[in-house]
Amino acid sequence: MAYSYEAPVSQSLFDRASVVTPGGVNSPVRAFRAVGGTPRFMVSGTGPYLTDADGREYVDLVCSWGPMILGHSHPEVIAAVQDAVSRGTSFGTPGEGEVALAEEIVARIEPVEQVRLVSSGTEATMSAIRLARGFTGRAKVVKFAGCYHGHVDALLAAAGSGVATFGLPDTPGVTGATAGDTVVLPYNDLDAVRAAFAAHPGEIACVITEASPGNMGVVPPADGFNAGLKELCAANGALYISDEVMTGFRTSKAGWYGVDGVRPDLMTFGKVMGGGFPAAAFGGRGDVMAHLAPAGPVYQAGTLSGNPVATAAGLAQLRLLDDAAYAKIDAVSAELRSLVGEALTKEGVAHTVSAASNMFSVFFTDQPVRDYDDAKKQDVFRFTAFFHSMLEQGVYLPPSAFESWFVSTAHDERAVERIAAALPAAARAASEATA
Ligand code: PLP
Repeated sequence: MAYSYEAPVSQSLFDRASVVTPGGVNSPVRAFRAVGGTPRFMVSGTGPYLTDADGREYVDLVCSWGPMILGHSHPEVIAAVQDAVSRGTSFGTPGEGEVALAEEIVARIEPVEQVRLVSSGTEATMSAIRLARGFTGRAKVVKFAGCYHGHVDALLAAAGSGVATFGLPDTPGVTGATAGDTVVLPYNDLDAVRAAFAAHPGEIACVITEASPGNMGVVPPADGFNAGLKELCAANGALYISDEVMTGFRTSKAGWYGVDGVRPDLMTFGKVMGGGFPAAAFGGRGDVMAHLAPAGPVYQAGTLSGNPVATAAGLAQLRLLDDAAYAKIDAVSAELRSLVGEALTKEGVAHTVSAASNMFSVFFTDQPVRDYDDAKKQDVFRFTAFFHSMLEQGVYLPPSAFESWFVSTAHDERAVERIAAALPAAARAASEATA
């Protein structure tokens, strides 16, 4: 695909980066490989806007992949960070900020009786799985194809679907032995979970699922799916782990738990709770969390866990996220979903706008999408054309058809108008695209 616009400064930064960093980026999706073209190197963000190194401004619909739920450079979050920084950046001791953040999480999310702070979503899911294995004395983990839980070795086994398929490593470097304890099942398929418990009696430590998946595009759980998982886990002595790294504090004040009310044994959090800094957490049932060191035997630790600057940012952000904030995000999301749908319909582009609360994405197919196999059947080449047209017109979408779009409280009328103005040409580009 040819691009009619250029980003010379980003390109030269990318060239420099590619010499010293594998693929030129510190997290693969940022490299634009799924869509082609030059990744934009951003230099600043304000409210719903990002500005790149070439001086172009974009309406941001990625929001740092979720964390920036109040928009960029929110004055109260920045003030909290500046205040924390002025007192020092890391002490390696306990501090009041981490207590306050833990209290805020426990107050918002009823099933979380205790919480441990870590620095990334990956650490949170890795630690939750270790704890589940330590608590149950069992080895196997059930996950679902298309659910991403960070780059935890055991959870990068997403290959294969079908009942009780043993995971094959998705990447070199994950051993067959590690992946062999992971059972990968199709999403939204309770029969497959039932069959896995029957095939491995007394062996499954936990079932981990995205509370509402956003990493194969947005594919919400079918009615009763999460409740069914909880029930099957309880009946078989396994823990039900709900990964709310993406949905936590975003899809409602209490994340996806606030939407479906299914009570997990353990939960994982990240993104929003760090206010744009590396802070994440896992927590849940008090009797399970009591197995964690130093209270119990399951080891887990972190030099920068509960970092005072990160916890100050997260706490400031969470305290600003009241009912009015969620109502605003929900409304902006609903408006954008209908604008995108109308534009694509007008150009006759087959599509499905899929939403879970205020998270949403567009599948370029009119067939129902219930799992990863369905998601992969869309016309990805149409997304690519749509993406580049939006980028050229100053709207920054996730550079992959398999990612959620995110909005913030800062997405005001002006930002929405700019998106609306870009949509007709992008929908036309999608309709004219060829495979
Ligand atoms: N779990 C979910 C549901 C995620 O979406 C992500 C990241 O996107 C992770 C875990 C991993 O988090 P991190 O990138 O902070 O390691």
